[in-house]
Amino acid sequence: MRILVTGGTGYIGSHTVIELLNNGYEVTILDNLSNSKELVVDRIEEIAGKRPDFVKGDIRSKEDLLKVFKGQKIDCVINFAGLKAVGESIKMPLEYYDNNIYGAINLLEVMRECECFNFIFSSSATVYGDPASVPVDETFPVGGTTNPYGTTKLFIEQILQDLYKADNRFNIAILRYFNPIGAHPSGLIGEDPNGIPNNLAPYITQVMVGKRDHLNIFGNDYDTKDGTCIRDYIHVCDLARGHVCAIKKLLENPGVVIYNLGTGKGSSVLDILHAFEAAYGKPIPYEFAPRRAGDITANYTKVEKAEREIGFKAQYDIMDMARDQWNWQKKNPNGYSK
Ligand code: NAD
Ligand code: UDP
Repeated sequence: MRILVTGGTGYIGSHTVIELLNNGYEVTILDNLSNSKELVVDRIEEIAGKRPDFVKGDIRSKEDLLKVFKGQKIDCVINFAGLKAVGESIKMPLEYYDNNIYGAINLLEVMRECECFNFIFSSSATVYGDPASVPVDETFPVGGTTNPYGTTKLFIEQILQDLYKADNRFNIAILRYFNPIGAHPSGLIGEDPNGIPNNLAPYITQVMVGKRDHLNIFGNDYDTKDGTCIRDYIHVCDLARGHVCAIKKLLENPGVVIYNLGTGKGSSVLDILHAFEAAYGKPIPYEFAPRRAGDITANYTKVEKAEREIGFKAQYDIMDMARDQWNWQKKNPNGYSK
C-alpha cells in the first residue's frame, strides 16, 4: 500500500514517514521545502533503513500532483503540507488561506480525478477555540478561532465534511493534534523552526544550547495550579503512530471520522520547563512576562474515542519528550543547517 505524505519532510511528517515505513507501507513524499530540507530524506533512510520516494512539489500545483498520481497508484494521502505560524498568519492571511485551503482543495480535486479517496488531515486542537471546560472531546463545538491559521483548519474541516456529503466514496480522518513536542530518539530528525521559535519546547532547547538568553513565560496569573497555562503535550513519535492507526480505520470505509490526538494529561509551562531541566541536569533561566495575546488558560483532551475506535494510546510522558527533544537539539544545535 502506498501513502502520499504531503509535507513529509517537515517536523510531524518526517516522524510519520518513519512510522509508515516501519509498518511496511510504501511512501512518496511531496514537499515544496518551504519549511524543511531535502536532507531529511537521507535521515529518514538512515533511521528506517528504507528510502521514501521524494518529489519536490507544491500541493497548489496540479501539474506537480499529477506527476505523483499518474506515476503510481496512491492508496491514501496524509496532508501535512501547510503553513503553521500563528503570528505570521495574522500578518499574511491571504498567503495562509491560499496555501492551506486552496492547497487542500487542489489536492482533493486531483485525488478525485485519480480515484484516490482516502484522506487524513492534520487539524489542530485550536479548532475548539477557548473551550467551555476541559478535558475536551470530539463532540465539543468548534469555532471561535483567534487567527487565520486556526481558521484554515476550521474551514478545511468543513470542506471535508461537505465533500463527503456530496461524494461518499471518500473516507476522511480529521486528526486534531494537541501540542506535539519531542523528537525521534535517534536525534537524527526533529523540529527545526526558522528564526525565533514561537512554540515553547523549541524555545527552551534554544536557551539550553545558548542561542537564547532565557525563556519568557507568558503569564503567571492564569487560574491554574501554578498560574501558567495548561496544554496537552504529546510526543511526536506517538502522534506519528496515530496516523498509522487512522489509515487502518479508513480501510473500514468509515466516512468522516474525527479524533483528538493527545495524552489526556494537562501540563503547565512550568511542568514542561522542569522536565527539560531534568534532561539538562541544571536550571534553565526564565522570566515571567505578560500574557501572550490569544492564549487560552487550558486545553487537554479526553482520549477515550481514539483509544476505543482506533486503538491509539500515547506511550510517552513529558520526561521522555524533553529528553528526546534535548537530544535532537544537542546533536544538531543549528537544526538541519551546518
Ligand atoms: P512543518 O512546517 O514542519 O511541516 C510542513 C511541511 O509542509 C514543510 O516541510 C513545508 O515545506 C511543507 N509545505 C508547506 N506548504 C506546502 C505546499 N503548499 N506544498 C507542499 N509542501 C508544503 O509543520 P509540522 O509541525 O510538521 O506540521 C504539519 C501539519 O500539522 C501542518 O498542517 C500543521 O498545521 C499541523 N499541525 C501542527 C501542529 C504543531 O504544533 N506542530 C499542531 C497542530 C497541527
Ligand atoms: N509559551 C511561553 N513562552 C514561549 C512560548 C510559549 O510561555 O516562549 C507558552 C504559551 O503561552 C502557552 C504554552 O507555552 O501557554 C504553549 O505554547 P505554544 O506556542 O508552544 O503552543 P500553543 O498551545 O499556543 O499552540
